[in-house]
Amino acid sequence: MSESAAWSVTTFYRFLPLENPEQVKIDWDQAAAASDLCGLLILGKEGFNTTCAAPSPEKLAAFKAWVLKTFDCGDMLFKDSVSRTQPFPKFKSKVRPEIVTFGTPELIPNNENHRHLSPEEWDRAMAEDGTVVVDTRNWYEYRIGSFKNAVNPNIEQFTEFPEFFEKQNYTKDKKILIFCTGGIRCEKGILELEKAGYDNVYQLEGGILNYLEKKPNEQFEGECFVFDNRVALDQNLEPSRKYKLCPHCGQPGELVKSCVRCESEFVVCVSCEPKEIVGQVCSKNCAHHAKMHPGRKGAKQIRAFSHP
Ligand SMILES: [Zn+2]
Ligand SMILES: [Zn+2]
Repeated sequence: MSESAAWSVTTFYRFLPLENPEQVKIDWDQAAAASDLCGLLILGKEGFNTTCAAPSPEKLAAFKAWVLKTFDCGDMLFKDSVSRTQPFPKFKSKVRPEIVTFGTPELIPNNENHRHLSPEEWDRAMAEDGTVVVDTRNWYEYRIGSFKNAVNPNIEQFTEFPEFFEKQNYTKDKKILIFCTGGIRCEKGILELEKAGYDNVYQLEGGILNYLEKKPNEQFEGECFVFDNRVALDQNLEPSRKYKLCPHCGQPGELVKSCVRCESEFVVCVSCEPKEIVGQVCSKNCAHHAKMHPGRKGAKQIRAFSHP
């Protein structure tokens, strides 16, 4: 862990039947408060899915112990990382029909190790002739980092993945390797593909986060997008020093610029940068004023350039 890391972060999920997710939510909120957690928890009748963080490794360890004691989890795969600053504003929990949105609440993985490949097995399978590696994530996640030679589905959201896949016309027995950030999207994806007749599909166990923990600087190139203030993690699972969220569209940005209205240093994404006005200003507020009064200066919107 880096010296500057203040927060201990973990990502995990489990498909298991929860009779009463509303009650589990109450218990979980209490346990989260006891460990001063921040993060996001999605609960449903099919299980739970969370990324959360504690202000010390000890507090996170106490929370993990509670999870293992409370649920019938066996060997839970916690994907750990760190953050220099608080990665979520607070702890939020939500009950939803699905713990990862795919539009198929009826597809519930019942075997956690169904067609999973460890990082070592994954590297061997990728090297075999004729295998295809397919990223199941969104286009902006792919853009900042992916596996060498991975197919980019160029989708806006995971629910579009099956339609993209059908269009590829892969033979039903082709060996296909799919991956995502922490593994949960693939759990549903693999069942959907099997339903469609593809019976030689495998997923990366624990996703990119588990792979980078075991194999930094190998077959995964670039950084791994994460859904919190860190924006992305580098090869050592350290918070990105390259990307910040673009103030205009919320996607990862890496172009450092100076705002034409307030002269704050800011970061913008490659899609917004070429746009008139938007690409030149640090915030929605400066964009509004720059449109109303072109050329007029205003108060600084960003006090100091600090990276999450
Ligand atoms: Zn943008
Ligand atoms: Zn500005």
